[in-house]
Amino acid sequence: MNSPLFVTQPYLPNKARYTDYLEQIWQSNQLTNGGVLYEQLTERLKALLGVSHLLLVSNGTIALQIAYKIKKLKNKNIITTPFTFAATATALDWQEAKIVFSTVNQHSWNLCPEQVSQKILKKEIGGIVPVNLFGMPCDLDAFESIKQQHNIPIIYDSAHAMNSTYKGRSIYQYGDMHCISFHATKLFHTIEGGAITFNNKADYQQAKRLINFGQDDEGQVHQAGINGKLSEFHAAMGLCVLDDLDALINSRTLLITEYQNQLGALVQYQTADYAYTQTPIYMPIKLASEAQLQRVQQALFAKNIHARRYFCPQSLQFLPRQQMPTEQFLVLCLPLSSNYTKEDVTRVCNTIKQVL
Ligand SMILES: *Cc1c(COP(=O)(O)O)cnc(C)c1O
Repeated sequence: MNSPLFVTQPYLPNKARYTDYLEQIWQSNQLTNGGVLYEQLTERLKALLGVSHLLLVSNGTIALQIAYKIKKLKNKNIITTPFTFAATATALDWQEAKIVFSTVNQHSWNLCPEQVSQKILKKEIGGIVPVNLFGMPCDLDAFESIKQQHNIPIIYDSAHAMNSTYKGRSIYQYGDMHCISFHATKLFHTIEGGAITFNNKADYQQAKRLINFGQDDEGQVHQAGINGKLSEFHAAMGLCVLDDLDALINSRTLLITEYQNQLGALVQYQTADYAYTQTPIYMPIKLASEAQLQRVQQALFAKNIHARRYFCPQSLQFLPRQQMPTEQFLVLCLPLSSNYTKEDVTRVCNTIKQVL
């Protein structure tokens, strides 16, 4: 039996380099609540993403919850995409927002701005949560004009979109806030962790209090917060992975190109008709039918290749029946990791070609 290929593998940087970073923790004797490594990682990420305000938090889900809280989404109708990881919607539900799914564009697989505009004309909408799915930026200009026209807050779930760009600009310059995940399975990670970026300083200052129980610099609590802090050990892992980020991006980009060369027009890929760069976080392919998707997934599984169906909105069983998304998404994510080789890609592609 061939060795297993998983949809992804966590990246572990050089251990000695990690312990070098840890040395700074022993010197500062500070484990969490900010600290030298937390500050270093914050500054490096701000420079990388081209933002003025960035707050590191303990995971991507708490990033969403804090953003939803700041924009007071509770009890409001919030438009989002059904085609995303469960956390986008569960965090909305946790903040007691009313989830309104809108359809996605057939090429970018992201929220369709025209459909969102239609919904706004028919229903009172209190916010929009587009997802930059698989690192593909949404049509950010279109959402920006919806925001201006209707004065509706936009919070991007950019969990996958670490350094994607849109029309040559940082995606983070759009909308009110972006929530990023630094979970171990993402391209850039801090084991567990995440960040929020802000285009408004007051939102940043509020978020900073909210992740620390709501306390201000004088220890006064004017709004109840939560504990969403990132420890120095997590920041150390982030700094280490950040040192290797270019190499990670290059190796994954090569594999993606190899997949596309080998599979050619047998499957469909995520695309958009505006200029963009996409973080190489996943290798999603779209199949022609449910039956074809099942055949491909099973053939791969028989060869010990674990392609995953990202994402399956039908798993959101907690939603009332009439709110459940009905759209089927025929997307499989193929194995992608900087640990994998071109030979691994060939093994996956040959298996797929035998079925299609
Ligand atoms: C991973 C992910 C999250 C949640 O991030 P965590 O850091 O795992 O809490 C949210 N949204 C999307 C789209 C994700 O893929």
